[in-house]
Amino acid sequence: MSQKNTLPSFTPILIVGAGPAGATASLTLSHLGMEHLIIDKATFPRDKICGDGLDLKIPRIFKHLNRPEWTEELLNTPDIFLPAWGVRMVAPNGRATDNIYTPPADTKAYPPFVTAKRQDFDNFLVNKIASPYADLRTDASLEALRRTPQGWEADILYQNQLQTVACQLLMAADGDHSTILRHLQQRKIDRVHYASSVRVYYKNVAGLHPQNLIEFHFRKELPMGYFWIFPLPNGCANVGLGIQSRIAAERDVNLRAVLDKLLYHTPDISPRFEQAQALEPVKGWGIPLASRRRNCVGDNYMLLGDAASLVNPLNGEGIGTAMLSGYIAAHYAQKAIQRNNFTAQTLAGYEQDMSLRLQDEVKAYNMALRFDHKRWYFPTLNTLFALNIPNRWMKKSMHQWHNTAFEQEIKLRFLNQ
Ligand SMILES: Cc1cc2nc3c(=O)[nH]c(=O)nc-3n(C[C@H](O)[C@H](O)[C@H](O)COP(=O)(O)OP(=O)(O)OC[C@H]3O[C@@H](n4cnc5c(N)ncnc54)[C@H](O)[C@@H]3O)c2cc1C
Repeated sequence: MSQKNTLPSFTPILIVGAGPAGATASLTLSHLGMEHLIIDKATFPRDKICGDGLDLKIPRIFKHLNRPEWTEELLNTPDIFLPAWGVRMVAPNGRATDNIYTPPADTKAYPPFVTAKRQDFDNFLVNKIASPYADLRTDASLEALRRTPQGWEADILYQNQLQTVACQLLMAADGDHSTILRHLQQRKIDRVHYASSVRVYYKNVAGLHPQNLIEFHFRKELPMGYFWIFPLPNGCANVGLGIQSRIAAERDVNLRAVLDKLLYHTPDISPRFEQAQALEPVKGWGIPLASRRRNCVGDNYMLLGDAASLVNPLNGEGIGTAMLSGYIAAHYAQKAIQRNNFTAQTLAGYEQDMSLRLQDEVKAYNMALRFDHKRWYFPTLNTLFALNIPNRWMKKSMHQWHNTAFEQEIKLRFLNQ
């Protein structure tokens, strides 16, 4: 990491944010041999409120960066990464089903999920950024932006000084509370396409599955949402819940009170927390869902990850999609540099490529919206579980995800248009 006190006055590409989206954009640009500056206002390791569930997009991206050894490293660092060999789903009526993934004999035994505290996973990624093409500065906060004929001027607070950096292309990976979104006046929240959530780390939760299944509990208290328990390394667990923000507002749902009730006053869950210790106070954060389509590109800029509202609306997973957006956006950045053309038109394919990838989940979520206020929402869920439909879907999906991760190329359909 550079110790220089001053920032360069110009960079062709400026990435703001070194979370999963920004770090992956940087790793991909380095892979493509493209110079860039990447800044983050935090110093790493830093926490990010999250469920800490990592899906199979991560090894897929490492493979595309020609870094399969990072996947091995991840699997061989058990004090940071925990393999989760499947999913426990609990219906609203309390019926639980364990879906365990068994890899076919001829394929690599990589689990369908891995869990890691975000402070560790994001640090893992940031530590891979060093390259002759990447200039990484942490503790460097974007404060203001100005348009110029060539692109942007960014005022960045670094080493106690406000320093100005000019760039041709801005990659906004600064998360849900994005400064850049505010500057573009795009930060307005649509509560139908946004989830409110809380998380707390615990130690010694009872009843975790020996194969570390991640648990989704669909509860009457949480229409269009769920309560989760995700086992973590060292006997810890990430415990939390999320719910669509419109429902939370309309029904005046107090997330912390619901969590407290579930953990300490619910016969099927509370016994598991009798001997457990909370390791921190409950913390909250928002989840911007991909069902709200945002303009992810404009002249001289692209939005990535949470700043682009790219979280899978069905399950709240946004780490993998953020990384995918970083990987894909970097290819469009390369195209813009090669053509010396940074117009929205040149970059438009990035948005199309991303929305293609999330279209099935967005369709399914929009369909579910039709039922969210109906009295038969929970009876329907119970019936679906009784018919084993979610579990059969999960088992099939885990095999598909595995196949996609290790066998299928990430195609950029609109790159050459
Ligand atoms: C409670 C909760 C549970 C979740 N559970 C899961 C889960 O289990 N699995 C999953 O896949 N997803 C989950 N998500 C979603 C996931 O956390 C996000 O989608 C993911 O973090 C998005 O990554 P990102 O890189 O876009 O943004 P972030 O991870 O938010 O990173 C943004 C970075 O930008 C930096 N930054 C911000 N402003 C500035 C500035 N002005 N200047 C410089 N740097 C700046 C920040 O310091 C940060 O490092 C969950 C979210 C929540 C809230």
